[in-house]
Amino acid sequence: MKQLGLMIDMDLCIGCKTCIVACRNYHGLVDIEKAVPGEIPFYLRVESRREGTYPMISASHRVIPCQHCKTAPCMKACPTGAITKDGQTGIVQIDREKCTGEKKCLEACPWDVIQFDEAGGFAHKCDLCHDRVLFGELPVCAEVCMTNAITFGELELLKQKARAEGREIDRKMSPMSVVYLKPTPKNTLASP
Ligand code: SF4
Ligand code: SF4
Repeated sequence: MKQLGLMIDMDLCIGCKTCIVACRNYHGLVDIEKAVPGEIPFYLRVESRREGTYPMISASHRVIPCQHCKTAPCMKACPTGAITKDGQTGIVQIDREKCTGEKKCLEACPWDVIQFDEAGGFAHKCDLCHDRVLFGELPVCAEVCMTNAITFGELELLKQKARAEGREIDRKMSPMSVVYLKPTPKNTLASP
């Protein structure tokens, strides 16, 4: 099986969240009528960390979408077989029609990336823009990122590219199908 995935370059991500906005627009997540009260669902989030005191500060940002796990805990937890891993692409998808709304997958996901539509009674999440990538297009997040912090492709090729460019993969953060590149030392501390 060819596993598709994303590579997130923590040198390039500036934490602007454009990817989140574009993803919400593309996947129709902006209808607050259907959202959990007080929340708009999201398929990816950005976690930012800042260290030091001005003017000697450093910041790093990481984008967290579904990791399209090799043996997906959400899939194992689903009692109705609504979650499947595609044999061609490795993309993990939720079939809304088969979802009975028991939320077992939300409890099982270690990455906390599954959303629940209370009005419709179904779970939903990032599908790596399956409908786009089948036609050779990029997932929306990778397409809109103005700093090119998100690269889409075959997982093994993404890792090869990182190694060829002398970049270090953060292995602890990259056990599944999203590869995180560690910030290079020059970018870990911003000088005045
Ligand atoms: S991945 Fe790109 S679009 Fe998303 S927060 Fe980082 S810089 Fe912005
Ligand atoms: S929803 Fe969570 S458990 Fe399921 S594939 Fe994505 S990251 Fe893994």
